[in-house]
Amino acid sequence: MRPDLRVALLGTGIMGEAMGRRLLAANFDLLVWNRTQARARAVQGARIATTLDAAVDEADIVITMLSDAEATEAVMLGRNGALRAMKGDATWLQMATIGPRGTEVLAKEAERHGIRFVDAPVLGSRPQAEAGELVVLAAGEPATIERCRPLLDTLARRTIELGTPGQAAALKLAVNAWLVNSVHALAESIALARALGLDPEDFLGAIAGGPLDMAFAQWKGRAMIAGEHAPAFPLKHALKDALLAQAAHLDRGLEPRALDAAIFRLGEAAEAGLADADLSALFEVVRKDRNA
Ligand code: NAP
Repeated sequence: MRPDLRVALLGTGIMGEAMGRRLLAANFDLLVWNRTQARARAVQGARIATTLDAAVDEADIVITMLSDAEATEAVMLGRNGALRAMKGDATWLQMATIGPRGTEVLAKEAERHGIRFVDAPVLGSRPQAEAGELVVLAAGEPATIERCRPLLDTLARRTIELGTPGQAAALKLAVNAWLVNSVHALAESIALARALGLDPEDFLGAIAGGPLDMAFAQWKGRAMIAGEHAPAFPLKHALKDALLAQAAHLDRGLEPRALDAAIFRLGEAAEAGLADADLSALFEVVRKDRNA
């Protein structure tokens, strides 16, 4: 156990669970809380807090890894929120993808409560979280980021330090716009290869290892071809991120045509009951040979 740093993890969904396991394996003093308590038990060996107050009141670092800005506000702010129960010298490490606007609101609230805040969204999915191979984008006071260093070094192969809170969330949006557009393009190329009477594996083989390749395309492409969409990055969260990125484009007078098309398709997939499936399930609304 590392008694020097008591950590509370709020949210043990796909990412929180994997991060919790990783922190436990590194001997952090970890207390987890999840709205649906049964799901917190998936972090085997972790102590489970039954109330938010009990989760955070002795924590040196509180990590939030909840769905979106609304969920994070619901858990942290307000009369019964966790923020008012945190110790004065504690740090809030906000790691979910909530966009720059949502982040700025939370950072202000943290400041009002005298709590240090780091805007720290992550790149990578469940396998990377389990292996400590995430990339963290961290914006906040350098000294505050430094306090989180043991945690960041356990969860991530690299931490990229940015400026003030909101800037890491902004960079995360640019990255996820790229990710969503790439997966949409990938789905269309696999559907096209199939429609042309080709084996879509040959498409992945043709780009493999060359300048057109992308590890993510090989991973998600194989899932599309196999029709296996067990969630690592739920489609509903990709849609949330795409909408946040679309709003950011429009705010600045940009016209995100590719993202508009991807959002349309993600919406179709969500309506078809695929919101909780992996983002790779986008392929199911792109292909037209579903009954073939
Ligand atoms: P997830 O599996 O859907 O988990 C969502 C978590 O949020 C659960 O703990 C859920 O609690 C909680 N939650 C949702 N609404 C809530 C509310 N109103 N009040 C309290 N708790 C609430 O999501 P995830 O994949 O772990 O993603 C978490 C965040 O990381 C998201 O912002 C996502 O975009 C981002 N992210 C995900 C990935 C990925 O590959 N999965 C990668 C990078 C970043 P319950 O269990 O009670 O529903």
